[in-house]
Amino acid sequence: MDKTALLIIDVQYDFLPPSGSLAVPNGQDILPVINDLLDENKYDWPVIVASQDYHPRGHISFASTHPPHKPFEPLLVRDARGTTYQQTLWPDHCIQGTRGTEIEENIKRKLGQWGRKVRLARKGTHMKLEAYSAFDGDAYPGEQKLPSEGPLSTYLRKRGIEKVVIVGLATDFCVLQTALSAISASFDTLILGPAVRGISPEDTDKALVKIRNLGGKVIDQDEIDWETGLNRWFDL
Ligand SMILES: [Zn+2]
Repeated sequence: MDKTALLIIDVQYDFLPPSGSLAVPNGQDILPVINDLLDENKYDWPVIVASQDYHPRGHISFASTHPPHKPFEPLLVRDARGTTYQQTLWPDHCIQGTRGTEIEENIKRKLGQWGRKVRLARKGTHMKLEAYSAFDGDAYPGEQKLPSEGPLSTYLRKRGIEKVVIVGLATDFCVLQTALSAISASFDTLILGPAVRGISPEDTDKALVKIRNLGGKVIDQDEIDWETGLNRWFDL
């Protein structure tokens, strides 16, 4: 497993039922699986990346920034790069300094046991830039780098990583975009089905089809033999 990194996407309170402001349906179901993946007795990840949606108040993606528009409406917006695009408006979520932006406490505690192997990837930190992909972390205007040149892919390559296992929330947004970045940056990309959940069932299905069509692998629940564990999927 020395060439395989675990990418844990946005396992934060605002994305988790029951109290998250943008709770992903059944998002809590993935927690035991991710906890298992963080068991040092079973796995030997050389690198673990934990991404964190981390917005300032008044972020471009919030419906509250664009009154009278409401959450989940699409709206054409112009971002800090001067790009006009259709933004899905969200309820306020993952605001810097709030509990909603914290990584779920059991996952956070387990991450602590992996010490320097863990890298935190904060994204969406710029007021006028949306960032779904963990590879977009800390990207600012003037640094319009392709995903393959971004800081996370550089970090992974320097450590000899060739394959990424992606888990977390939400399949149809941040997991999808992280997978697309990973594929375009030529990482062997694997999504662990039992450890991802999406916002809309229809878009979640579409996202998984898209990932598969682009060469990513999606492991379904029924393909896993929990007795023997998951290692066979993770070895290159
Ligand atoms: Zn966000």
